[in-house]
Amino acid sequence: MLKVTGACKYCGQVATFEVPDAWGDRLTDEFLTEEATKKCNCVEALTASEKENARIRAEKYVDRCLEDKEIADFAKEAIPYVIKGEIEAITINVGLGEKLILKTSSKRYISAKHSITRQTAMEE
Ligand SMILES: [Zn+2]
Repeated sequence: MLKVTGACKYCGQVATFEVPDAWGDRLTDEFLTEEATKKCNCVEALTASEKENARIRAEKYVDRCLEDKEIADFAKEAIPYVIKGEIEAITINVGLGEKLILKTSSKRYISAKHSITRQTAMEE
C-alpha cells in the first residue's frame, strides 16, 4: 500500500490514506483532492456528498420512469442545475399525457414527479 495525502477542497483539512501500489501512476492531484474531500467532515464537504447522493437518486428515478433513453438522458442533464438551484423547476412533457417534473427541494435538494394522464375523446 502507498500512503498518500490530499486536502479537502472546501476547508483544506489534510487527510492521509492508503491506496494500492499499482495506483501510483494514476494518482492525480484531482483524485487526491476528491478522496480527501470525501473523507472530510466539514459542512461544505458533507453538503457536497448529500448533493451527490441526491443526483444519483434522481438519475435512478428518471431512468425508472422514462422508457426512452434519449429523453431520460436529456432529463438527467437538468438534474445538477435543479440541485444547485439554478433552475427552480423543469417540466418535460413527453406527450400523450406523460410528464416528468423536476423541482428544487429545500430538504432533499431535488424532488421528482412522473405522471401519466390518460384522456380520450371521441373523434369528430
Ligand atoms: Zn473539509
